[in-house]
Amino acid sequence: MPELPEVETTRRGIQPYVLQKKLERVIIRQPMLRWPIADELPLKITGQKITQLTRRGKYILFGFRNGTLLLHLGMSGSLRLVAKNTQPGKHDHVDFVLSSKILRFTDPRRFGSILWTEQDPMQHKLLNHLGPEPLEETFSTEYLYKKSRHRKTPIKNFIMDSKIVVGIGNIYANEALFLTGIRPTLLAGKVSKTKYQLLIKNIRLVLSQAIQQGGTTLQDFVGGDGNPGYFKQQLKVYGRAGEPCVNCKKPLKEIRLGQRSTVYCSHCQR
Ligand SMILES: [Zn+2]
Repeated sequence: MPELPEVETTRRGIQPYVLQKKLERVIIRQPMLRWPIADELPLKITGQKITQLTRRGKYILFGFRNGTLLLHLGMSGSLRLVAKNTQPGKHDHVDFVLSSKILRFTDPRRFGSILWTEQDPMQHKLLNHLGPEPLEETFSTEYLYKKSRHRKTPIKNFIMDSKIVVGIGNIYANEALFLTGIRPTLLAGKVSKTKYQLLIKNIRLVLSQAIQQGGTTLQDFVGGDGNPGYFKQQLKVYGRAGEPCVNCKKPLKEIRLGQRSTVYCSHCQR
């Protein structure tokens, strides 16, 4: 599933070909995504210039003079730039035809979404409840500490809650907790301020490392037919259950937390 770093890499990868460019045509081959694509969409955006390209959580926002297109990659979606004569494949549901390229939306499982709003996009019902962005300053020690008081949720579930902070997927939560030495099951209300400060630093570290690694795959957004934006990172705990901890060499444990695989070192994380 594309996580925040993959989405941010996608945004950065397509930006030079999309920003301030005019949309010549929109071709919708399959409107039935997670929600149906509005019939009016092509009429609204054809011939319009994309004036902004931003991200909020895992949504990419294409800003036009008359509204905003919200795009989510869902479970299996991707956006790629392809040459204008490239034949569409089975799962290539939407083409945004630009002057020099086609921005192609591919989504085998169709959990992605393409929505149109003419209101302030931040007030859209899918975005208005979201917590701060993890890489921005509003995600501060003070904020997280305050939010966590009296919380009886395990810390891992707490930081994966998009109302608290957006974009911390399962892999990144596992890794950041390991780096901070916090056991994933520890209740959020029991974590000290000092630990929260360190946790924020490590969340930013794992996310920005992933974004940086994504930078090396940027060329895949142009003409490639691979699967851009899915990175192989050097992971210290995720996917390593039973293997030795990189610090103390004791075998890593695995439990299920909120139905998600949770791997930790019972010696280094308390
Ligand atoms: Zn250890």
